[in-house]
Amino acid sequence: MASPDAPGSVPEVRLRELQVGVSPVEVVARVLTAERREVTRRSDGGRRPLLSGLLSDGTASVRFTWWDPPREGIERGLVLRAVGAEVREFRGRPELTFSWKTRVEPASPAELPRVSPEEFPLRTVHELASRDEGFRLRVRVVRVQPKPVTVGVERRIVHEGLLADRSGAIAFSSWSDFQLAAGEAIEVAGGYLRPFRGRPQLVLDERSTVSRVEGGDLPDPAELLRSGPRSIARVEDEGGGDALAVEGVVVGLLPPSGLVYRCPTCRRSVKNGICRVHGQVEGQPDLRARLVLDDGTGAVTVNVGRADTERLWGVTLADARARLREQPDPSLLEEQLWEAALGRRLRVRGQGTRDDFGITIQPETIETVDVDLETAAAELAARLGGAG
Ligand SMILES: [Zn+2]
Repeated sequence: MASPDAPGSVPEVRLRELQVGVSPVEVVARVLTAERREVTRRSDGGRRPLLSGLLSDGTASVRFTWWDPPREGIERGLVLRAVGAEVREFRGRPELTFSWKTRVEPASPAELPRVSPEEFPLRTVHELASRDEGFRLRVRVVRVQPKPVTVGVERRIVHEGLLADRSGAIAFSSWSDFQLAAGEAIEVAGGYLRPFRGRPQLVLDERSTVSRVEGGDLPDPAELLRSGPRSIARVEDEGGGDALAVEGVVVGLLPPSGLVYRCPTCRRSVKNGICRVHGQVEGQPDLRARLVLDDGTGAVTVNVGRADTERLWGVTLADARARLREQPDPSLLEEQLWEAALGRRLRVRGQGTRDDFGITIQPETIETVDVDLETAAAELAARLGGAG
């Protein structure tokens, strides 16, 4: 076996400085995404394993291709040092290739290049592209909340929330506690974007920096949360959004709605006593409603949680369980919920994300809007008729 280049014999470069053809190089970077594939060798038809994805070092993110990678252990978040990597071109941009000539080893996040916040260009939320990094943002903290999560066997706290400037709002999650509070104006640098439920999310980690700023030019959070509803057609065009509001009439109820059972560990819904992650579990009862809301320009699905379902339906979880004991047919409950919800005009505020079925909103608030019942009935009849 040929000996790979020893550390120090090739220059260590930042990803932002990579140039096609200037190889080999040494880089330290974090795995943002990684996907395994196999390609068929033309010579003998044999299969050759390949790992490809995105690496980031805080200055840029670049694609990488790793031939014959280790069978396991290369996961999102891992920091790697690669000595003797080739820089090739992929769609006009530099890409790193790891081959048998490259030595790749795990590294500590402390070995990632130090970048001072001033080195990053200042951007607006609107200017961020879905795989961006190496930027600074001046934003208002609209809200922030700690959430316990399990990573492997470890329990950790992630701080989740929403940041906004005058150009738009973006969801964020932070693995470090920056002591953020709603209403604060901050400058953040050294974060990166990753897609989350079809929307870009800003991820902050131990290498990100947060400083408090004056923020006179930033929107006030109350103002953001008061903004009026947009047309659903526009929300569809934009692929969803954070802190958006829509108003429409309930025209449908999708399964599973009504009384559902959830896994006590992960809260996924349980089918026939089986959680698809945790196997056989004792399902815990819960109420939910997946409403289809139509405003005449389009329709969205709204995932309504227990408290709002109880309020809209006028039936508590305990009531629903009592009804089920009397009439052991869950479809009757669903029908009663449907009757209570159909034709209601709702104003829903929350996060909208797009998938293959259209836009789904995870509501933060749901208000019932009083309407003239006759007008609403006529409107509803027209829409249902129009839908076939
Ligand atoms: Zn589970």
